[in-house]
Amino acid sequence: MIDFLRGFVLKILYPSLILFSPFLRNKKESLQLFIIELNNRLVKIEWSKKSFLYKKMKLLLLLPHCLQTNSCDVRITNNIYNCKRCGKCIISDIIRVAEKYRLNLFVATGGTLARRIVKDIRPDAIVAVACERDLSSGIVDTYPIPVIGIANERPQGPCVNTTIDKKKIIDAIEFFEKINSRY
Ligand code: SF4
Repeated sequence: MIDFLRGFVLKILYPSLILFSPFLRNKKESLQLFIIELNNRLVKIEWSKKSFLYKKMKLLLLLPHCLQTNSCDVRITNNIYNCKRCGKCIISDIIRVAEKYRLNLFVATGGTLARRIVKDIRPDAIVAVACERDLSSGIVDTYPIPVIGIANERPQGPCVNTTIDKKKIIDAIEFFEKINSRY
């Protein structure tokens, strides 16, 4: 029932609201954030109820390229583990988190690459970091895969030197890990 509701929100309610967004000046991002938070809540309600799993969930952590500081010339889009872990941006910290939880970790430069990564990895659940626009469209595209979306922070404006509170990522991973422990 909750999954049906999530499908309704993502496939019917959200596109309908977006149709009106040209009339809602400066409100599009708030609308996208509302949909992301509603999706996260529905995923948590639905998955908290699972009393057991038939198999362990394969978890994917997907990051936007703009988390990498623009002064770094290491190419991390093909392989995030090329990162030298110098600590100048949050990427090194997130790699450590992914290693601790043994997750699939990828950086996407946009929606097309993100969709290709999801197609290749075939995850059972996703923790995704991105701006509200990319997150909301990604959550819609990957439904019915459960996704917890976390909007990045953009102290220098969009698409450059963005960051994220590591704790939000860990909380989302631990939510799915707790369910995995029921396997
Ligand atoms: S931690 Fe250092 S090496 Fe890794 S992506 Fe950031 S700036 Fe580049």
